Amino acid sequence: MSAGRAGPQPYVGRFAPSPTGPLHAGSLVAALASWLDARAAGGRWLVRIEDVDLPRCQSGAAERILAQLAACGLAPDEAPLYQSTRGARYQQALDALVAEHLAYPCACTRRDIEAAQAALGLQHERHVERPYPGTCRAGLQGRAPRAWRFNATDYQSNLPPAPAHQAQDAPLLIVNDGIHWCDRRLGPQSQNVATQVGDFVLRRADGLWAYQLAVVVDDADQGVTHVVRGEDLTDNTARQILLQSALGLATPSYLHTPLVRAADGEKLSKQHGAPPMDERDPMAALAAAAHVLGLPPIDAGAGVAAALALWVRAWAGIYNPRRD
Ligand code: GLU
Repeated sequence: MSAGRAGPQPYVGRFAPSPTGPLHAGSLVAALASWLDARAAGGRWLVRIEDVDLPRCQSGAAERILAQLAACGLAPDEAPLYQSTRGARYQQALDALVAEHLAYPCACTRRDIEAAQAALGLQHERHVERPYPGTCRAGLQGRAPRAWRFNATDYQSNLPPAPAHQAQDAPLLIVNDGIHWCDRRLGPQSQNVATQVGDFVLRRADGLWAYQLAVVVDDADQGVTHVVRGEDLTDNTARQILLQSALGLATPSYLHTPLVRAADGEKLSKQHGAPPMDERDPMAALAAAAHVLGLPPIDAGAGVAAALALWVRAWAGIYNPRRD
């Protein structure tokens, strides 16, 4: 099975917040950028509530996020899709991979994985993800299954080799040394998923669906052609492209937006105590987000609609979504 780059389908973009808390200055940047990109392309813009990780979701957060977006003039073109309703589709995708021997059950606990990594000489380093050592790829050896993993190792090794003379900025290559893709803002990226990440989880030991599977199935089912999201997610893209390829799904184009940093340089996040966006003063929040995106300031007193219209034109001048 092979995936292709999204062809000339009509533009569909999306903002996909996890309802673990209200929107803050960082998540508003991704929301605004994805909306501007869709509007600059004359396309559709969807909101997907990524509530697969139910224990991390906060009650009322999805409603608050939608109200915050509405206050900013960012209204989705369809009713939002909730991932918590999508279990049957994720199961179908997992079944399809199992049928192709591209997913396998895994019995490893975190401790088992750490022991196997240490035995392979993979030392623990802060902020460095070590690949899953592949313990269960050959079978469970009588141990009880816990999670399901994608067999990235076998899938990737069976892909064709990279062409001898590959262009530095080739838009997309899905080959046996990994994924080479071009981010619309960050430029050429590549990752060898098999060696750098290993066989990653599709369904977790607690029965919850993993982000990677849910996002790939939903982006495809919703016809998403352009993903615009925060730069902290850049590192997931190669995994998602490999999974799209294995499932025979088209690959959207990707643009990762700048992160907002707190005073100590850490990424602004709910965990980091970012204050919620104040929906009573949407212009202040929007102006700050626009500044992060390199968009021009607006006149004092301008309303939300006028500001958004100005930024759509400015965005088209910087990123021109019609070109992709
Ligand atoms: N739900 C993810 C988050 O809030 C975003 C997923 C995505 O845009 O692909 O970080």
